[in-house]
Amino acid sequence: MNAQVMDGKTVAQSVLERVKILSERFWEHTGRQPGLAVIMAGDDPASAVYVRNKKKACRRVGIAFFEVHLPRDADESRIMEQIHRFNMDDDCDGMIIQLPLPEGMDADYFLEQIDPGKDVDGFHPLNTGKLWLGTAPIAPCTPAGIIKILEAYNIQIEGREAVIAGRSAIVGKPTAALLLARHATVTLAHSRTTRLDEICRRADLLVTAVGRPGFFGADHIKPGAVVIDVGINRIDLDSAGPKWLALDSPIADKLRENGHALIGDVHPRAAIERASYFTPVPGGVGRMTVAMLMHNTITLAGIRLGIDPGDSPV
Ligand code: NAD
Repeated sequence: MNAQVMDGKTVAQSVLERVKILSERFWEHTGRQPGLAVIMAGDDPASAVYVRNKKKACRRVGIAFFEVHLPRDADESRIMEQIHRFNMDDDCDGMIIQLPLPEGMDADYFLEQIDPGKDVDGFHPLNTGKLWLGTAPIAPCTPAGIIKILEAYNIQIEGREAVIAGRSAIVGKPTAALLLARHATVTLAHSRTTRLDEICRRADLLVTAVGRPGFFGADHIKPGAVVIDVGINRIDLDSAGPKWLALDSPIADKLRENGHALIGDVHPRAAIERASYFTPVPGGVGRMTVAMLMHNTITLAGIRLGIDPGDSPV
């Protein structure tokens, strides 16, 4: 069996086009663009790339972007000041604290200070609770992107056995809540799960989010399963690279060209040979995350101002 690749780029593009229409409609109602604020502290290079991508996406869909970049040694009160500022700012509809924060800072504490109505990442405890109750207007961006891509390919969720490997608060747990709300039978596996391969092999729908390159192989995938690979792992030619060079795939080409490459949690050959559909890395779920952030921003902006954004909640 040769699995069908689920093209995150195309699905993300259609989400962004929709957001653009909605933000134009928002402008017609309010005379301003919806606004997204990002607070970053420190100089994590990956975070800098993510913030740049968010800014680019905002420009593309007509969302105003407010960026605050504080130094690594900034006093915690300065982060607090910015959170309060954006909580009060009527031009700001959504706010993100870019994670990770510098070592020693308690991200949960800051996340709790965000106005839950502006919590576009959906990480505030109130919104986490609402997600499990099925009353949240939005969901965290990566899990929301998983649902969107499943819907785009008309994958049946109801009644199917879903296994999610990884129980983080940003991916595994909210994905479990969303799949459960759509009537899947959900198992949440993690690093202490025994017989992980057996459990994964039960899955009609396997979501992997553990952060280990190519960890899930043929033994983990039921023939015909839908495999959603959330993992984004960088491998280098010097370390893990040689193991992947023999693979006849774009990963090996990238490794040869650049000395490094991105790879998911699922072994690409296993996904192609065993699954019916799978999301590639890169070009799968990763593409959806920023698109869903834009979607969440326009949704919360509409709710805040009592304008029907025209789309049902995720
Ligand atoms: P995390 O480190 O917070 O959580 C990892 C989870 O994996 C934990 O629950 C842990 O119990 C589980 N785990 C670790 N080793 C395991 C093993 N051997 N067997 C079973 N479970 C195991 O990670 P995270 O933030 O959820 O991210 C996971 C992966 O997803 C990373 O590669 C990350 O880069 C990627 N990610 C991608 C996106 C995206 O937009 N596509 C967004 C967020 C995270």
